[in-house]
Order: sequence, then C-alpha cells, then structure tokens
Amino acid sequence: MKEQMTSKLAMELEDKYGAHNYHPLPVVLAKGQGAKVWDVEGKEYFDFLSAYSAVNQGHCHPKIINALIDQAKTLTLTSRAFFNDSLGVYEKYITEFFGYDKILPMNTGAEGDETALKLCRKWAYMKKGIAENQAKIIVCEHNFHGRTITVISMSTDPDSRGGFGPFTPGFITIPYNDLDALAEALKDPNVAGFLVEPIQGEAGVYVPQEGYLKKAYDMCKAKNVLFIADEVQTGIARTGKLLACDHEGVKPDILILGKALSGGVYPVSAVLADDDIMLCIKPGEHGSTFGGNPVAAKVAIAALEVVKEENLADKAEYLGQIFREEMRNINSDMVELVRGKGLLNAIVIKPKNGKTAWDVCVKMAENGLLAKPTHGHIIRFAPPLVITEEQLREAVGIIKASILSFN
Ligand code: PLP
Repeated sequence: MKEQMTSKLAMELEDKYGAHNYHPLPVVLAKGQGAKVWDVEGKEYFDFLSAYSAVNQGHCHPKIINALIDQAKTLTLTSRAFFNDSLGVYEKYITEFFGYDKILPMNTGAEGDETALKLCRKWAYMKKGIAENQAKIIVCEHNFHGRTITVISMSTDPDSRGGFGPFTPGFITIPYNDLDALAEALKDPNVAGFLVEPIQGEAGVYVPQEGYLKKAYDMCKAKNVLFIADEVQTGIARTGKLLACDHEGVKPDILILGKALSGGVYPVSAVLADDDIMLCIKPGEHGSTFGGNPVAAKVAIAALEVVKEENLADKAEYLGQIFREEMRNINSDMVELVRGKGLLNAIVIKPKNGKTAWDVCVKMAENGLLAKPTHGHIIRFAPPLVITEEQLREAVGIIKASILSFN
C-alpha cells in the first residue's frame, strides 16, 4: 500500500535523499493559491516569501497556468536549432514592455547574470576597445547574483564562496551605496561595466540612499561604462514600480530579469539591451537548450500581462506604505529597524532572551504566516503582490502577535 504523505515523511525523504544545501523552516507545502499556501495537513499560511519574489502574481495564477497548459499540450521545446512560433512574439512583447531593442532569453537568474557579464565583456572588446582579457566589471559588497562559479566569484559572502575556489578574475568589489568608491573604481580604464542590485534583497533588503542609482548611472555614462541592473528580485512590480530603477528614472544599459518573469510558474530569465550591445554576441557564442522555449515564452507573456492588468506595481506601492507603517508601530524592542520599498521589506530583529529572527519565523509559521530570516537577524517580508488590503492587515496582525509573544 502507498504510504500516506505527511509533513514528517516529506522532511525525512528530503533529509535522506536530497543534498543538504538548504535549511528550510519545518513546513511542508502542498498547495498554493494567490497569497496563501497550505501544508500537507491542510494548515493555511500567508506566504510572505513568495519564493524569493518569484510569485509576485500569486500562486497558481489562472491566466499564467492556462498559458502553461495550453502551450505544454502543443509544443514544449524545439531548441534554438530551429525557430518556433512563440519566441518571436514573446521577444516583441517583452522588448516593447521594457523599452529595449532586444532580449536574450535564459532560464534562471544566475544564468541571466552570467549572460550579462559575457555580453558586457564582449562589448568591452568589440566596442570600447579594451585589450583582450583585460575587461573588469565593478560589483558591490554583499551582492547576491546566484550560485554559479563566476557569480560566486563576485560574492563577498563566506558561505557562498568558502571551499569553491579558484574563482573567476576580472571583478572590482566596492562597498554598496558608496559613490566615492565607485568614482575611484571608475578611474581604471579597463572597467567595462558596473553590476548592481537596485536594492540588495538577499543581503537583507538594503535600500540605497535616494539618488544613488541615478548618480551611479551618470558616472558610468561619463566613463563609457555599462550600467547593468540585476532586477531578478526587485523587478516586475515588487518595489512599487515595474522596475526598481524606475524610482530614479534610470534605464540600465543591460537589464537582468528572472523569478517573477514567469510568476513563479517556470524558470524564465531574460537579459535586455539595445542593439549596440546585444548584437556583440554572434551565433554560436552563447545559448541555452531551454532558453526561449515556447512554454517559457507563453508563460512570460501571461505573467507580464497580469502585472499590467492587475496594476501590481501601484498595489505594491500602496500596500508597502501600510505595511511599513504597521511594522514601525509594533511595541517591541525586538524590532530594531524596518526598511524596504513597495512590498519588498525587512525587519531587523534584535535578539531577546536568546530568541532570534529564526524563533520569530517559527512562531509566525505556527500562527499562519511564512517568512524566512536572511543573514541571521533580518526577516524579509515579500508577499505575493495580489494580496488584498484586508489580507495584508490580517497578516500584519499575525506578525505583530508573533513578535509581541516574546515580550
Ligand atoms: N540575482 C538576484 C538579485 C537574486 O536575488 C537571485 C536569487 O535570489 C539571483 C540573481 C539568482 O537567481 P536564480 O536562483 O534563479 O539563479
């Protein structure tokens, strides 16, 4: 007889047969709809992680799921050895949506970053005139761009890097939100690009000072250096605008998107740039078997349509204000700091009587809300953007009660 699935069994299976490269909260999810998820035993939770901002459009959005099903029944994968009848339509849609000449489709965020780095280097040699193999790219301390070898070569996080060397050379690391450091690094004539997250999500939702992105962009322009924005986590309405760079009217030379580009339904990432940059890569020089497949194309169009039709950027802006105000009103010395933009927010937790951010997350899970600590003492709160105001206020009540239970 087939064994009945329980949370206990699911966790045992993952522990025994899966690599131990994650440390999940002890919650086993079996279903999702909108802003909510349910565990194997049927307990209901608000999802305040949204798969690291991939599920901005809400779990199992019917429009996106229908696009997936329809295309999956028709044609799933051709590879790019042939044309397919969905990709070009998607390419036209997304480039018009974000205002670029071209897209290079990939699957994961890390692949998007890798692609942007390759594109930047090619441009450096073909257009900027940097000598072969000399191009450098400026990156920021505490960045998070994924997990591949080159991407962790840019990281300053010991957990991400430790034991994985040797690393890819060609990066200059500067502090985040530091324009003087950027000015200094830009003096090097071999600098080809500046890769930056408009808000550092994984690091703990670090929002740079107002004007940072615009000034950084202008400084890059003055030195003929490409401004490359990793909006894998901040993009697609999460921060209250379509892109976080829109808050400062900055149009990146290279834009990297992932996660919510599919509404969390399918791995879809994209690199967008204008012809002068994108056409530096020629046939055979870069690619991916799955990148730009028909299912991804249809899913991404549907996911972007949902963002527009449901006004998710404005909603994130409005609900984000309410959320931060409510969090700042919590009467607990465990709440050290509240920060964020739109519905990408974080609370810095001051441990109390040995109770940490992890304990707060466990308590919130017991009370029906899922969030996860990042970097020890910071809890990120990023619900699906389809959450209603009423649901948000209910969720706020759970967060407050959970934190106050440690008073
Ligand atoms: N870039 C940023 C800013 C991210 O937050 C992430 C993932 O959290 C990535 C890249 C990597 O995306 P993926 O996990 O899809 O490779």
